[in-house]
Parts: sequence; structure tokens; C-alpha cells
Amino acid sequence: MPKKLARKSRKSAVGSRQSVGTRKSSRNSGKGRKYVYFFGNGKADGNRNMKDLLGGKGSGLAEMTNAGLPVPPGFTISTEACTLYYAEGRKVPANVDKEMIENLGKLEKAAGATLGDVSNPLLVSVRSGAKFSMPGMMDTILNLGLNDQTVEGLKARTKNGRFAFDSYRRFIQMFGNVVLEIPKEAFEKRFEEVKHGAGAHLDTDLDEKALRDVVARYKEVVKGKSGRAFPQDPLEQLRGARDAVFRSWNNARAIEYRRIYDIPDSIGTAVNVQMMVFGNTGDRSATGVGFTRNPATGAKEFYGEFLVNAQGEDVVAGIRTPQPIHELEKVMPQAYKQLRDITTRLEKHYRDVQDFEFTIQDDRLFMLQTRNGKRTGYAAVIIATDLVAEKLITPKDAVLQIDPESLSQLLSPVFEPKAWKALGVATKGLPASPGAASGQVVFTADHAVERARQGKKVILVRKETVPDDIHGMFVAQGILTATGGMTSHAAVVGRQMGKPSIVGAGALDISESARSFIVNGKTVKEGEWVSFDGLTGEVKLGQVATKPSEILQVIAGDMKSAQSDIHQRFAKILTWSDQFRRLGIRANADQPDQAMTAYAFGARGIGLCRTEHMFFGEGRLAIVQRMILAEKEEDRRAALAELLPLQRGDFYGVFKAMQGTPVTIRTIDPPLHEFLPKREELMVDIAKLEAKGVKGKELQDKQTLLRRVEQLHEFNPMLGHRGVRLGITYPEITEMQTRAIIEAACQLAKEGTKVVPEIMIPLVGLVKELRDQKAIVDRVAADVMKEKGVKVKYLVGTMIEVPRGAVTADEIAHEAEFFSFGTNDLTQLTFGFSRDDIGKFLGAYQDHKILDKDPFATIDTVGVGQLVAIGVTKGRSTRKDLKLGICGEHGGDPSSIHFFEKVGLDYVSASPYRIPVARLAAAQAALQVKVGD
Ligand code: PEP
Ligand code: MG
Repeated sequence: MPKKLARKSRKSAVGSRQSVGTRKSSRNSGKGRKYVYFFGNGKADGNRNMKDLLGGKGSGLAEMTNAGLPVPPGFTISTEACTLYYAEGRKVPANVDKEMIENLGKLEKAAGATLGDVSNPLLVSVRSGAKFSMPGMMDTILNLGLNDQTVEGLKARTKNGRFAFDSYRRFIQMFGNVVLEIPKEAFEKRFEEVKHGAGAHLDTDLDEKALRDVVARYKEVVKGKSGRAFPQDPLEQLRGARDAVFRSWNNARAIEYRRIYDIPDSIGTAVNVQMMVFGNTGDRSATGVGFTRNPATGAKEFYGEFLVNAQGEDVVAGIRTPQPIHELEKVMPQAYKQLRDITTRLEKHYRDVQDFEFTIQDDRLFMLQTRNGKRTGYAAVIIATDLVAEKLITPKDAVLQIDPESLSQLLSPVFEPKAWKALGVATKGLPASPGAASGQVVFTADHAVERARQGKKVILVRKETVPDDIHGMFVAQGILTATGGMTSHAAVVGRQMGKPSIVGAGALDISESARSFIVNGKTVKEGEWVSFDGLTGEVKLGQVATKPSEILQVIAGDMKSAQSDIHQRFAKILTWSDQFRRLGIRANADQPDQAMTAYAFGARGIGLCRTEHMFFGEGRLAIVQRMILAEKEEDRRAALAELLPLQRGDFYGVFKAMQGTPVTIRTIDPPLHEFLPKREELMVDIAKLEAKGVKGKELQDKQTLLRRVEQLHEFNPMLGHRGVRLGITYPEITEMQTRAIIEAACQLAKEGTKVVPEIMIPLVGLVKELRDQKAIVDRVAADVMKEKGVKVKYLVGTMIEVPRGAVTADEIAHEAEFFSFGTNDLTQLTFGFSRDDIGKFLGAYQDHKILDKDPFATIDTVGVGQLVAIGVTKGRSTRKDLKLGICGEHGGDPSSIHFFEKVGLDYVSASPYRIPVARLAAAQAALQVKVGD
């Protein structure tokens, strides 16, 4: 669960108390290094390649200055200074301070104004700027340098008292809030008082007199809340603002943002100090932000907004509604033309969409920022393919430009944006499978099916899902669970089906018997509408309209690619990716339709077919239960004989869908009781029957079932009688499954279709386990081929998912012709974290910084990853040509794929709807890292 974005209370922190006249400091650190980089007068110390040191903003300002663009002069205090600030116990060392003062001198010269000079005051902005943009997460201060005297100087120079005092009151508020940590509301309250007294509707209705009054009241707020007068010394102001920006690197929301977007805590922020230019000096001034292309749709259109007579924060604050940027052409045609020219040049220069900020002061344009623009997954694909068509970038650049994860947005159904925004967030969970889902709540899989049959859209809400819920999951618009982590059943199956899913939404208090849940004090009953976004984890109460994505329509054959521009572009990106990747891409799929989808998405092989999922198909569970209940081997064999043709049919379909590419089929894995009803449910049923006086077969059957369920009960089923252990105790299951696989393969071979079955034994930790099962597989395969008079090539291998299996991989490789790393169980068994229960404490682990990421979503390279590496090395030491893959959920995770590239696996296997992400991530991995790195 996301933690509250609370602001820590800290002691008020102003800079050192030295005055302008005593520009000295006593501490020294990191001597000899350069910490401050100047830009101005067409020359900058830095450039675009110095993002690490200057942050995105600082390097952009330097680059634009060097390119001769109109950038107000200033300097950037580097990210290394931020690191020092923290290393020195939240203090800026004397040498860095000294360098800042020297650069301030240069800035004063370039600006032709002096900080604190009454007749000609220099005013500056102080802004954060890390290597990666973190919009709105850190702090900014504008108009710094104003005090009771310089404000009069500003008034005299601009002949605009209203402007001067408006600037001063904004500065006191920002400084008060950011540096002195006084809540914004304290200022806003006083502002409203004055507005009310003056009968003003808009902020702009206040005249100089009223604004002088605001300033006086704000100063009272500062004195009252901080215990001292508002600092009049501009250098003290500057130091305070600088330190506050460094401090804001570690405010709660910035930390949370970094966690979500995987930005290291260690890189720090730079501080940019820049001469102020004003968009609020009158009707010939304006300020705005924009993009060179539309960041939501990717369309090649100038996109943005501006406000006349306003300062930067007014555009984002929503107090006044900004105008679309093309209207600037009418109001200030020359500045508009210049802005278009400059931003077009910038896009060419950076070879990517630019996100820019500008200010027009008395008809003169100034550029305040440029950086590569953030965009939606949809826009990313449009933009990258357009840029290649425009010959601005190469296909390789395009492949590197797109965040693989963002591709999944293109597959998800989408909400109508207005309708979605209109509802408030009821709770948040783990975003397990992306997509927009809206439907009526149901609490059991059977109800889901029942209602879906009536043509209703349903959301299956469960504490957790079990394999038995599969039919309900299949018909639901989305799956919402209160418990579970990113590899819980609901999450794995949801992704595999491409179903929007949120898991671990702990705030849901579900009562299946009452058919309702409570969230946020509100009760939601079965049949009421819930909507959620599987990409963000946000859940809302109410109905929101959705529509399916075009790409899925093409994949499903409901639309031709030629009719879908976005599909063609999407396919282009993936074809380019295939030219660069080394890793093979396979899918985790259990059914012919899933295999077909996976193939259509570009999977060339199945890395994991979980055969037990086939046992839940229509009419099958009863046979499986009979097999489990059988006391005698012959009864068990009879039930298995009934399953044989059904499994053979499934395998035939999967082989056929995969068109001759390898198919890895795993023998039965989960503990058998998963196929039986729950003990408690049976006890209730029996009690009810007894109470009704029902006797005879119905009661006896239930009692038999209960006895068997009790026999099968295990304290730790995930560590119990499952995987290879089942095949050893019930060899007839392995026999039946092998027979079904080889019979299907022989049938296809006869029909002239190539098949490459790979039979995989799960949960092996001892080579002898594998030897035992392999003997069965080889025997049955030989029998079947003899019977059918056909020879098919097949492989026998194992999953490496038990730590002992990894550590003894050299022994296991004597028997195994391939390994597939089962990183779900390997993570579970290495950490000792239950994959189904981690949701209960993962949030706390992340809050306490014990874990950065969910190890079930992104491979723990230091621990679990080492076992994979050991498995690879030891396995190949025995068998050079050992085929190596990974079929845990990490197979579809881009940063894990980077790791699998490094350790030299042959392929990754991901759920069908993750295939595009995996293809692109594998290409990026091949371009960015090397095997053996
Ligand atoms: C695994 O453990 O990583 C795996 C793929 O198997 P399952 O998720 O079915 O246990
Ligand atoms: Mg497993």
C-alpha cells in the first residue's frame, strides 16, 4: 500500500546568519573540485552530457545557453554538492558556499544587477533539478532577493507598484513555506482576508495597496510561526533556499516517487539559481509550458498552454485557466514564432520530444527549461515511429527510447478519461495487471459466471483467488483481491489472461457470506459497480465506461492490422526489437487460445505449460477428484485414462498453435488438495445434510471427500507433497501425462507438422528425483512411439526452483537436457517469504527500506539471482549445450530481463500479454549490457 505523503516536521532552517558583507564561511570539504557551473552570455560551463552532475534542468540550461538561445543567466550547484550536504550532516561546506558566491558575482555582472541593491536589485529563482525529472516533488523559490527596500527599487525601476508587491508577497509565501516550513494555508488564509476586505474575486483584482497589506500580514505569519522576522538579507535568503532545495530531495513525496520510478536515492539533486524574468509585468508578458508533440497521443502538434501576465506557478496551480498555446500566435505573434523556431531546433538537437518552459517579459522571449518529454505508452510508440520516418532517429534509437513497461498500456482496455476523473479514489492495491475494468461486484467465481451469462459485466472480488476460481476469473472484467502479492494466483493468472487485476488491496473488508465489502466506511454490495485501473492500482466506486484497445482487436482477429495505424507502429517497434535482441522469447500458456495469442504477440515457443490448469477445464475437475480420491492404484488409473484424451487434445492444440516452435510442458505441480473442496465447506455441508436428516449416498460421498481432504491436509502445502514428489508417489500421473504429450506429438508428426516437446519435471532438488521421473518419461515415450510407429524428438529437463537444485545444478545437468528457472518458487524458498502472503508485510519492508522492490516482481539479483548464476555455471559445466530459460514471473519484467541477459540465459518466458514488453526489454538488454557483465 502506498504510504501517506506526510511531511516530516523539521526544525526551521535558514542559512548561516552571515550578511552580504561577510561572504565567508568556516568549513571546507571536497576541495579542488568544481561544484558550481555558470551559464550566461552565450557560454556555459556545462553541457547536455552532464545530467549526472547538473541534473536534467541544469544540463538543459547549459546546452541551450551554448546554442545561443535566450536563456536568463545563472548557475547550477551540482548534485555532488547535494551529496556533500548530506555527508556533512545537512550543511553545505565552506568551499562550495564560496564557489556559489563567486558565481553569484558573475551572475550579477551578466545580469547588470546586484543581489540586494536597492536601486537595481537582482532577483533570482532557486529550483531543484535531479538527473531524472521528478515533477512537483521537490521545491522551488521565485523572486528571491526581495526585501522591504529592494521591493521599492523594483517598483521604481518597473514603475509598477502592483507588480513589485505581488512579487514580494509570492516570495514571502514560497520562502515561508519551503524554507521555514510554514503551512501554505496560513498564508492563504491571510490572502483571502485581504481579498474579501477589498471585495476582489481574482488575485489580479488586488491593487498595490491591498498587496502591501498582504505583505504586512504575511510577515506577521512568518514572525508568528517561525519566531523571527522575515529575513531581509538576500544572501541569507539564498543560502536558506539552496539548503531547502537540497533538503527537499528527502521529503516524503520525493522518496516515494523515487521508489515508484526506481530512481536511486543516492544521486541527489542539483540547485539552479537563475536571474528572474517576469511574465507578470503586464499584458505584454506571459508564461507557459509546452511540448513539441502531444505527450498523450503522440500527434505531431505544438502542444501546451500559457497565461498572459502571470508567473510560472499560476499555470500549474489551476487558479486561472491557461489558454492553449496556439492562441499565443494571436496575442504575441513574434514571440510565438520565435518559440516555435527554438523548440523545433531543440527537438532536432535532442532528437526527441521536448518539454519546455518559457517566459515572455515585455515581448521578449526567454527559455527556462527543456528536457525530453514524458509521454504515455501510446504516444511513445507514435513518436518513436514518426521520428524514425522523419529520419531524426534510427530504429535502434527508437528501440532504446521506449519504456518497455509502457507498451502494456497499449493492450489494456481504456477508460473514458472524463468519466474516470469524475470519481474519487476509494482505495489502492498492488497493480498486478494493467487495464481499465468496470463491472458489478461478485464474490464467487460461480456468481461471476452466472451473471456473465446474463450479459453482465462483473468484477470478481475475493480475499484471494484459488485455481478453482479460474472460470469466474475468465468471465470477469477484472480481478480485485484483498490479499496476495505480485505473484499470487490472482496476479499470475490475471496477467496471463490479460485481465486487469489489482491484488493486496488490504483496505477491502470482504464478507463473502454477506456478499459485500466495506471500504473507507462505505459498504458495497454484490451487484454494485466498481471500477479500477490495473496500471495504477486505484479503485473507485461506481461505473466508468471502457473500450478495448485496437491492438487486442487485431491480435484477436477482429480487426485487420491495415486498418489500425497504432497496431502497425507497435508491430514495427517489435520487429526492430527482434533485430537487436539475443534472448529468445517464449510464453507461459496452458491452453491453445492462450498459445495462439502468445504466438500472435511474437512468442516463439512455450516456456511453461502448467498442465494442472487444464484440470480445471469444463467437466474435468470431477475426474481429477475421482483420481485423487481413489484408494487403489487401479481406480486411479481408470480416472487417469479418462483424463488422457482430454490432455492429449489440449497438447495437440497447443503444439499446433505454436507452429513447430518448442513447447515446454510441465508435469503436475500443485498439492492435490487444491483440486478438492475446502475442509470447512465440507464440514458445513455435512452438518446441513445431517440437520435435514439426509442420509445415503449424498452424505456418504461428502464424508468420504472430507476424510480424503483431511488425509491430504498439510501444514505447509507449498513445501509439501507437490511437484516431482507427486510424480514419485503416483508414477501413473507422470505416465499419463507423458503419454498424452507424446501421442499428441506423434499425431501432429503424422500430419506433417513439426513438434518439439520438452517435458519438464518441477521442484527438483535432488538429481535422483529427476532420474526417477526421466526413466518413466523415456519408457512411456518409447512405448508410445512404438505403438504409433512414429519417432518424435523430445527433451527431458527440469525446473530449477529449489535452492538445492541450483547449488547442485552440475549433478542435475547429467540428467536434464534443459533447465528452466522457476524464479517464483526460487524466490519464495530463498527468502522464505510465502509468495501468497508477502502482501501483508511488503509495504512495511519497503517503508523501512529493508527491501526496495517486490522480489517476486523484480529479481533479487544479489540473492536469488546468484542462485540463478550458480545454476547456469554449474549446469553448463556438465552439459555445454544445456538449454537455459526462465519461466517465473520475472521473465516479463524488464529489469530482470537485463539480469537474465547478463547471466547468459537462452530465453525468457512470460505470460502472453507480456510478450511485447519482453521483446522490447530483451532488445534493450542486448544493446545495453553484455553476457558475463
Ligand atoms: C516458478 O516457481 O517460478 C514457476 C514458474 O512455477 P509456478 O509459478 O507454477 O510455481
Ligand atoms: Mg514453481
